[in-house]
Amino acid sequence: MSFELCIRRKRQEPCWWVAVGPADATVRPCPAMGARLVSEKLRLETIMYDLVIRNGLVVDGSGEPGYAGDVAVSDGRIIEIGRISGRAQREIDAEGHVVTPGFIDGHTHLDAQMFWDSLGSSSCWQGVTTAVMGNCGFTLAPGSEEQRALVVRNLERAEDISGAAMEAGIKWNWTTFAEYLDVVDGLPKGINYAPQIGHSALRTFAMGEAAFERESNEAELEAMGRELNDALQAGAIGLSTSFSQGHNTSDDRPVASRLASWDEVKYLVMQMRNYRDRMFELAPSDVARFGEIEDRRRFHRKLFDLAQASGATATWGMLPLAAITAEELPLLERAAEAGVKMIGQSHSRGISLLYSFQTNTPYDWLPEWRDIRALPIPDQLAAMRNREIRHAMIESAKNATFGKIVGSDSPRAPDFSKLIVWNSPFPPNRVVQEVADERNCHPIETFIDLAMESNLNQYFYLPGMDWSTTELLRTMRHPQCVMTFSDAGAHVTQQDCSLQTHLLGYWVREQQEFTLEEAVRMITSAAAAAWGFHDRGVIRPGMVADINVIDPATIGPSLPVLREDLPTGAKRLESKATGILATVVSGQVFIERGAHTGALAGQLLRRREMN
Ligand SMILES: [Zn+2]
Repeated sequence: MSFELCIRRKRQEPCWWVAVGPADATVRPCPAMGARLVSEKLRLETIMYDLVIRNGLVVDGSGEPGYAGDVAVSDGRIIEIGRISGRAQREIDAEGHVVTPGFIDGHTHLDAQMFWDSLGSSSCWQGVTTAVMGNCGFTLAPGSEEQRALVVRNLERAEDISGAAMEAGIKWNWTTFAEYLDVVDGLPKGINYAPQIGHSALRTFAMGEAAFERESNEAELEAMGRELNDALQAGAIGLSTSFSQGHNTSDDRPVASRLASWDEVKYLVMQMRNYRDRMFELAPSDVARFGEIEDRRRFHRKLFDLAQASGATATWGMLPLAAITAEELPLLERAAEAGVKMIGQSHSRGISLLYSFQTNTPYDWLPEWRDIRALPIPDQLAAMRNREIRHAMIESAKNATFGKIVGSDSPRAPDFSKLIVWNSPFPPNRVVQEVADERNCHPIETFIDLAMESNLNQYFYLPGMDWSTTELLRTMRHPQCVMTFSDAGAHVTQQDCSLQTHLLGYWVREQQEFTLEEAVRMITSAAAAAWGFHDRGVIRPGMVADINVIDPATIGPSLPVLREDLPTGAKRLESKATGILATVVSGQVFIERGAHTGALAGQLLRRREMN
């Protein structure tokens, strides 16, 4: 007997242990099934796999050079790599393609959407097979059905999904986080989800309305601590919170986590010291990001100490601005030297805002725009063809006084020299100012004209801040950063989430800033290591068979498309991609050439081990 192998010849059949001899094999039902031993001869050649991906270049996620090989999968796991002669139930010819691990996204907000969208769109179209959810303090649990409105108040604005849509789309049958995980477990899922518990929900659960008003008292804090421990024991992979001034309720109040004292945060994060591989995800405050240098350093010291004392991995989004990276990248380096776990989340394009007449424009709040914008699109177009109406819209926009920015979605005066006319997924695209100069028009007029010329289908893309490409590349290359700041599922009409395919199409193919091997590593094994997914992220025997088959010559994001498919028919943007031949989740072909195959083999990834 040289080795033992567990295969499942067909999904419906029992699992078999095969003790392999030189010419034949002794087969008995898997001991886990408790069946009695039986013997029979089985020739090795007859072993069938569930899936074999043939003739591809395997870029295995480790960063090592790719190699030609077939990949065989059975029972949801990769079991062999090399020249595979055995037959499989399903074969994919990957000639001319690259076989990579499924992409792992550590920063998504698919918490609400997963209840009505079993595919996990748009992440599923981007090759993402595992999504960490519950970021920035936002989760749907804990909270009883009576507390539902309070829990949802925290996240409806950040996710840009109305409370009404969530009401229609989510059957709320949990109170505790553990009960919620059981519900999520039972939902049909195309991709895998790893749950974090959100601080805002936790506060709302323990404090009710007061969560939005004040700091917690001792009894409330203990209640939060108990529920957090229960959640961690039930499999939550970590705790998330937000101090960001960008995170508000629909009535412009801070979300609950922003009312917490640092002592409260510390108490909660310290609960994770007894658990292995737990995450502390945070959206830093504006002071911690943009404030006085001393304030920022004070916050960094507190965060460092907390990560060190708790053993949890502190992680947050890296903004590619020199003033920020100059402080935060050295912080990550000091942490790494001291064995303290801190991970920066990098982005391949920089968080951005999208505008269009299909979704939002910066001027929708103006009286001259509001009534027109409330009309169906064809009627808006017809109204804007009226000279007087168009003139009134242009003049009011020119003279608009923008209020204080209270959230990432607050109207703000667009800088037309930066506002990109988004006609091609990759640069170069023209900016509105450039087109306006050419036409000898005011940029606001050009903004309206470009929209009208496309039957109001034109999208405009505004970098969230004054991103520097140098800093963007610095964060992408930094060994303590992982490319994962997609925010998929949040701001659903305001941004696109094609971070992974943008990396592979633009930075690898067009700009050659990264080798394909290095880029694949950044969105697979690097993310798996940082988030503690030890059974995925590389193409190796024994690993979970989450796999992408991609065409490096064509992979890239498609321009977003408007969908009105949220419950109640509300809008969202869908980002598809080109150049992905197939996405496999848990050994089943899930997406093939941009279409869902019907497979829904995604799982809830609980983390239960304790130290
Ligand atoms: Zn977030």
